[in-house]
Parts: sequence; C-alpha cells; structure tokens
Amino acid sequence: MSLQFGIATVSLSGTLEEKLRAASAAGFDGVEIFENDLIASPLRPRDVRAMLDDLGLTCMLYQPFRDFEGMPGAMRQRAFDRAKAKFDLMGELGTRHILLCSNCSPHALGERNRIVADFQQLGDLAASHDIIVGYEALAWGRHVFDHRDAWAIVEAVDHPHVGIILDSFHSLSRGIPSDSIRAIPGDKIAFVQLADAPKLDMDLLYWSRHFRNFPGQGGLPVEAYVAEILATGYTGPLSLEIFNDRFRGWSADLIAADGLRSLCHVEDAALRLLDRPTAAPPPPHVRPEFVEFAVSDADVPALEAMFGSLGFTRTGIHPAKAVSRWQAGSVNLVINAERHGFGHDFRLAHGPSICAVGLVVPDRDAVAARAAHLGIRTVDDSDAPGNLAFPALRGIGGSLVYLIGEGEAAAMWDGEFTPTGAPYDASPLAIDHLAAVVRIEEYLSWQLYWRSLFGLQQSFQADVIDPSGLVLSQPLQSPDGALRVTLNASEALGTLSSRFVEHNLGGGYQHIALSTPDLLATAGHMAGKDADILPIPPNYHEDIAARFGLDDQRIAALAQANILYDADGVGEYLQLYSRAFRKRFFFEFVERDHYQGYGAPNASIRLASQERYKNAANDPE
Ligand code: MG
Ligand code: MG
Repeated sequence: MSLQFGIATVSLSGTLEEKLRAASAAGFDGVEIFENDLIASPLRPRDVRAMLDDLGLTCMLYQPFRDFEGMPGAMRQRAFDRAKAKFDLMGELGTRHILLCSNCSPHALGERNRIVADFQQLGDLAASHDIIVGYEALAWGRHVFDHRDAWAIVEAVDHPHVGIILDSFHSLSRGIPSDSIRAIPGDKIAFVQLADAPKLDMDLLYWSRHFRNFPGQGGLPVEAYVAEILATGYTGPLSLEIFNDRFRGWSADLIAADGLRSLCHVEDAALRLLDRPTAAPPPPHVRPEFVEFAVSDADVPALEAMFGSLGFTRTGIHPAKAVSRWQAGSVNLVINAERHGFGHDFRLAHGPSICAVGLVVPDRDAVAARAAHLGIRTVDDSDAPGNLAFPALRGIGGSLVYLIGEGEAAAMWDGEFTPTGAPYDASPLAIDHLAAVVRIEEYLSWQLYWRSLFGLQQSFQADVIDPSGLVLSQPLQSPDGALRVTLNASEALGTLSSRFVEHNLGGGYQHIALSTPDLLATAGHMAGKDADILPIPPNYHEDIAARFGLDDQRIAALAQANILYDADGVGEYLQLYSRAFRKRFFFEFVERDHYQGYGAPNASIRLASQERYKNAANDPE
C-alpha cells in the first residue's frame, strides 16, 4: 500500500494559489500550509479550503506553531491563547494536524515536568477541536533538539491528541541513528516530513534554511530513515518540507514534479530495504552502448575526420539514411545527418550536438515501467538505430536515452547497418563517463533523474574553478561502475558551462570520456593521425613533477602528450582532451588505475586552456 504524498507550500515558489496549483498538477495528495504563506495571502482560510477541494488536495498539516512549551509567567497563557486561535483557524482550513516545533525562545524553561504538563493541557484543548498536535524536535531547539528527546516527552505526555513529528533533516543533520525510531509506535507518529541535504559542515539553521533538497538529491541517508518509519507501522503521509534558495527561484511546476518523483523514489527504496513489495521494478544494471551525434551534412566530413583522428573506424553505413556507425574498442558512435526525424529536429534546436545515448539494460520494459512510476516520460521513436522500436526516455536537455535489452545490441547493429568493410582494429577504448552540462536550476533535478531511475550513487561534488567563475560538478555512478555520469552547472554567466547552456539553448552532453589501459600509447596513436589535442602549458607539468615526485622522463612524456595527471592515494588518473567540435562537444581520454574520481584538480587547468581559444576565429573551444 502506498502512503499519501504531501508537500509543504514553503517548498515552492510563487503565490499561495500558484503553489497549490503546482502541487495538484504534480499529483500530490495534499499540502502542508506554511503559516506565512497563508498570512501573506489575500485568500481567507475558507477560500483556501475551497480551492484545495477544487484541486483535489487535502490540507494535511498546518505549520509551524513556535515557542509553546515551557514558557514562564504570562507568556504561558499567551501561548495557549495563540494555540486556541490557530485551532479555530484550522477548523476553517479543514485540517486536523498541527506541527508544533520545539521551543527556541531564550525565555523557554527546560524543566521536563513543566513541558509535559503544558502538552497534557494542550492535548485537552486539541481534543475539544478534534486536532492532533505533532511535536517536532528542531535541530537547533533551545532544550529539545533530538527526536529521541521529543519522543520521551510525547511518551510521558501520553495523550491521544499529542504525537511526534519526525523530520529527516532535523534527525539526520545531527547524525542521530535512525534505528532509534524503532522505539516509537507507528500510531504515535503524527506526521513525517522529509528533506535531504548536501553533506556540508555548517551552522544547522543556515544549512536547513538554504540547502535542504529532495530525497535523492542530497547526501543524507533518508532512505534508511524512511524504512525505519515504515517499519513502525506508520500509515500517515510522507511530506516534503524544503527550504532551498534555488527552488524559490525556479518554476513551481517543475519543482513540484521533482518532489513527487523524489517521494516515489524514496518510498520505493525504503520498501526494498525492508524486503517489502513495491510498485516499481528495481533500478537496473546499466551500461552505455552508443552515443549519437546530430549534425548537418555539411558538418559530416569534419566530424568524420575528428572521429578518425581519435582512433575510430567507420564500420557501418545505413543503406537508406545519412547515418553511420563508428567504432573503437567497445565504443560505438553514431553520426546522424538525416534531414528529418528526431536527430534533425534536435540539431535545428540545439546545433551540432549529442542527441541521444543508448544504454543496455537487462529488461527494457521493466526500466520503462520504472520510469513511468517515477513520472519520467517514454517516447516512441523509430529513429533508433535498428528501428527496433526501442523505448526511449526523455533525457538531459530533451535528448533521448534509448533502452536496449541485454543481447539485443548485436541484432540492432546488424539489422540496420551495412558493414563498410573497413578493417576494424581491436582498440582498447571503452566509455568511462558521460559529462553533461545543465542549467543551475536543473542541477538537482538531473541528479534525481539518474539516481532514482538507474540507482546511480553520488560521490563528492567538486567545486571547479573556471577562469570566468565557479562550476559545480557532481559525479554519479552505478554501483558496479559501468555507467558514470557527471553533471556540471554554473551560476556564473561567463563560464564554459554557462556558455554551453546558452549556445545549446539548454543542457546537454558536453564531453564523452573514453578509457584506455595505456593513455601514452593511445596519445601516440592519435598524434600519428594528427588529432587536435588541447594544449596544456608547461607550468602545469612542472607543478605535478614537484607535487607527485614523478621522474623527469615520465613528466616529459606526459607534457609532450598534453596529459593531465592526478593521484588519490589509491591509484592514478591520466587524462587528455581533444579540442571541441564547433565549440560544442569534445572527447576526453583517461587511464584510470583504481582511481575513483574524475580529475577534479585538473579541471581548472583544462578550462583555462579551453578559455584561451574561446574568442579565436574558427578555433573551437
Ligand atoms: Mg520540519
Ligand atoms: Mg570528464
């Protein structure tokens, strides 16, 4: 049985009406009305209730009620008078649940018996209004800041109209073990609020107010937290309460859709942890099979020359279409210069670009079903190589993700392409990672997409210095490492990332990284074919000689080949970059020796080299 899903109005941008419409359009069952959203609205509580009815939403919670318990003297009576007024208002709104957060007032008294007595009296008042009070331990509460403590109080209060509210941010930001939730009976949990957040070491209040994000976008163990809650037998809603500066500045409709996806994802993941049945097939094993490039016929000779210089061989042509297959090792590149169809439309909108990637999965229908559960659209596209009617998903920047069943790839290639007879040498190249650039507002959205659909895991975000500003780079990879994606985004307008998004009219794939067991050999091979490699200045190689203690001969070889170097204590990483094609996309070649990262310390060197060519006439970036 699926739980009901909710979202707090504070999570979304816009007016209260816009927030409610967005929550309804995304498919939420209900909302938490954030008090300030109501106070600032011209809508009276009964108008809000009518609008909720029209939109098919319930008001699941009214929040927050602050600074209640343990107030001294006259402030105590004031707190009860306030509660009475809010209970009356809740009657007009049509909600039974109120969130009461732990007291932050400097006047608050911490004496336990006093707090328990306040809640018992409040419980009686709530009972007379048929209201349930939920007590939430704020991570920065004055006396109560731990859900274990809040539960001890609620247990002592022992009132049918007083329960506990669990908020994953408040618990997980303090590192409170989630198995402590097992002590709480499910029927004493009044409500559950979920939020994730990037792992940052900062003041809890500031972290919470600006950096919360949806489960599946951050680094907190929200899935295990939800599993513990479900194990209690809790049957109330799962609701999102997000304070995030980027969410406030972006479309409420898009954020709400991500929110619903995140709840589908986290509920699914939690049920899997509990070995319970779920509505969706599991995240699949996945590996890349091909990358498709959409270009005009005028661009084909230059792109073919580039592919050839990088060690690719044309191994197939389509008998009736301007489509060809290029291979090196296990890497397949497809050039699509058709004058109609998806690739053509994509090129008209975005210029020469990577318009699709093909991924091999064990069962494509199961992945399509998982995508549907997560609200990710499947599109029918007969332009897939092989015309095998593969389901495709909408991916980054409107590109497509083709799903190819395990064992279907060979038939796809054989069925569609006439071998060109060109000798195909056994190159060792394989796809290491796909690097995408997205709008900063969609950066978290695409993380959720890859993580929820394919079960990719997040490793540490890198802050990369572009000569024109900061670029955020988030690596994601499948548990077996077969699919790696990096998402890059920048707020600074002049960075290569931002220029890419501007020229491309949206996000897209910026480079494809290919792995080789011997980058010096691969570089030598490419040099023999006059490949256009991004130059790296001598200062860089002097620096790494000093930093890593590499011998002169090796440094000379790396410098000669324009190879960048990093080591992480476990292994080494060597990388070099091709120059970009029409300032749009480029290739990276890497030698990865047990190294888990993506050469983040070298990214600023690469970006500075690319920056030097940015304004040169006829010179790709
Ligand atoms: Mg909360
Ligand atoms: Mg890369």
